[in-house]
Amino acid sequence: PPYNGPRAEIFRKRAQFLSPSLFHFYDRPLDIVEGKMQYLFDEDGRRYLDAFGGIATVCCGHCHPDVVEAIVNQAKRIQHSTVLYLNHAIADFAEALASKMPGDLKVVFFTNSGTEANELALMIARLYTGCNDIISLRNGYHGNAAGTMGATAQSNWKFKVVQMGVHHALNPDPFRGAFGSDGEKYARDVQEIIEFGTTGRVGGFISEAIQGVGGIVELAPGYLPVAYSMVRKAGGLCIADEVQAGVARTGSHFWGFEGHGVIPDIVTMAKGIGNGIPIGAVVTTPEIAQVLTRKSYFNRSTFDGNPVSTAGGHAVLKVLEKEKLQENAFVVGSYLKEQLNNLKDKHEIIGDVRGKGFLLGVELVTDREKKTPAKAEISRVMNHMKDMGVLVGKGGFYGNVFRITPPLCFTKEDSDFFIEVMDIALSKL
Ligand code: PMP
Repeated sequence: PPYNGPRAEIFRKRAQFLSPSLFHFYDRPLDIVEGKMQYLFDEDGRRYLDAFGGIATVCCGHCHPDVVEAIVNQAKRIQHSTVLYLNHAIADFAEALASKMPGDLKVVFFTNSGTEANELALMIARLYTGCNDIISLRNGYHGNAAGTMGATAQSNWKFKVVQMGVHHALNPDPFRGAFGSDGEKYARDVQEIIEFGTTGRVGGFISEAIQGVGGIVELAPGYLPVAYSMVRKAGGLCIADEVQAGVARTGSHFWGFEGHGVIPDIVTMAKGIGNGIPIGAVVTTPEIAQVLTRKSYFNRSTFDGNPVSTAGGHAVLKVLEKEKLQENAFVVGSYLKEQLNNLKDKHEIIGDVRGKGFLLGVELVTDREKKTPAKAEISRVMNHMKDMGVLVGKGGFYGNVFRITPPLCFTKEDSDFFIEVMDIALSKL
């Protein structure tokens, strides 16, 4: 281990008792013991500005007092499964969540994670249509269980196990894709998959509005409306995976799909909606939800929609409204993106700046023409930024994209500090 003392103890226990595949971001990984809004603190009391917490869990700020209070109060009263008994928390949160949805998307099924939400969404689409074929996008990420691993389309996240019934369409990636920003051209591939890869009928189509794990890839404009219409003509349901792009993060809209002008048949979410507690959800129409009444089906798993998680989730929605965090994501996120574009003018290694609100990406390339991924460089910059007190994520198929996804309470001053630190780290390369 790169440490002595208590941190070495964590290393020793991890090596002995936890999965050998655990990985960590930094050369000298952090042991985070406390979080407060946009800050994290390590065992030595060192403070870090967290520009990546949003992806993992945190939407309104680490340990936001209102959310903590709601969770603690509920835990003190009752924590149980909601399969057997009535409880206010789940009903109230479902109502509040449905009120944030457009159209007829009014029926909520709770889960414990994004993977579970997508597993359920795929099952609903298959049951409703009687068709097994699902179309997902290359470079998408939808989970890591049996069904969702098939929908996830990045070899980095796949194991050699059976993954049947999913076709992967051309990714409408404006930076690396063959058709640039012409969404309609990419969508032709969806039609070809339907015509050449299926019976002509499909179960559904699943995609993120902005790919998160895939490196903050904004789908080319015009893609989703055309793809949705092709899928619907072939009898399929359209699923929006809002695990990363949803819940006010993109700033301009509450849900990422709204930025594309489409209304899905099924929406899935997780991560931020719980601000750190495990919860996911599937929202669909009353008609589609009927398919799950063929069996006595309410919960998929014992703790789906448990009172503590749903009380926490409901508190998150109230905080977002009270503190106008969607507006903050829009205003500060746009400012931050502008500053990142200024950095691009200064540093040749920045090949692309993209994303919306607080779902931003910065792709590093060693050659702007060839778009050669700057894999080693990004790690050096990340480590250096960490040493200066700023945490940022990375991702993308080649692992060369900074993922900037702070808690939605991130301020303009935080953005200025972030930019200054990234600028110094890039200059040191
Ligand atoms: N969908 C997307 C878009 C995700 O980013 C993730 C997680 N990275 C998932 C689904 C799976 O969510 P979870 O990790 O909560 O199972």
